[in-house]
Amino acid sequence: MLFFFGVNKSKLKNHFLLNNCICPHCNNANTLTTQTHAKYFHFFFFPIFPLSKTTTATCSHCRLHLQEDNFTEEMKRVYQNQETLNPNTRPIWHGCGCFIILSFIALSLISGIFAYFTYDKENSNSSEKADSFSFNYLNDLDSLTINPKLKNDTISLEAKDCLDEFLAGIVNTDRIEYYSKQKGNNILLIVKISDIKKIKSNTRKEILNYLYDWFSMDENFKNKKFYIAIEGQWNTVLISTPKGVDDDGKYANTDLLDNFYKENTPVKDTLNITIKKQKK
Ligand SMILES: [Zn+2]
Repeated sequence: MLFFFGVNKSKLKNHFLLNNCICPHCNNANTLTTQTHAKYFHFFFFPIFPLSKTTTATCSHCRLHLQEDNFTEEMKRVYQNQETLNPNTRPIWHGCGCFIILSFIALSLISGIFAYFTYDKENSNSSEKADSFSFNYLNDLDSLTINPKLKNDTISLEAKDCLDEFLAGIVNTDRIEYYSKQKGNNILLIVKISDIKKIKSNTRKEILNYLYDWFSMDENFKNKKFYIAIEGQWNTVLISTPKGVDDDGKYANTDLLDNFYKENTPVKDTLNITIKKQKK
């Protein structure tokens, strides 16, 4: 059986002749020599970290082999003196695995901390952008009204005419709220239908189609790009923009409105679109 990890040992270089010590077995003097082994933990025979050292003494005359614990007092004293004068240091490679692992951990920590701070910076920049976008959209949601005035929101008024007709008898059209604004050729229209649950989610996208048809009948909106968001009671349920459409009728991705808010053209008063009633 092969052991992938375990304890190995290696001989340390200094041997000490225990001067004037008497072998406890054959009573000869100056026949005892010490030998020290250092143990280390290995993984696939690669040293990871150092373990204890063991010292033995061997008699050259009778081959007696003694563990350090069994040394006579005299042997212990002489051995300690020698060890102090000429210490048996263990080779540095006994701990090299440990060193490599610790360096690796330190390096990962440093790069982790570095990555955290740089990521955080980038992230906070992008979340600032996202925040300013959602902030703008939330601000616009605050401006929703059930009663758009011809004087300052002609697009909402048009949308109201359209949905009053399309949703009559399905939802209470008097409670539908509207808001619109225009930047260059881009028009944002937000409609909030609080009781949208009365309309099945798979037929809700018809609201978008009806609005597009309605506006396409008017020359004033011929080259306009529409960003339409339909809000339910709690969340955005439909989005249609030049960038993409999210019309599954449940949870729409408001990121699609991003391009409208990114546009740097100043917001135009929608008053300058003169509505000519030419429907039906
Ligand atoms: Zn002996």
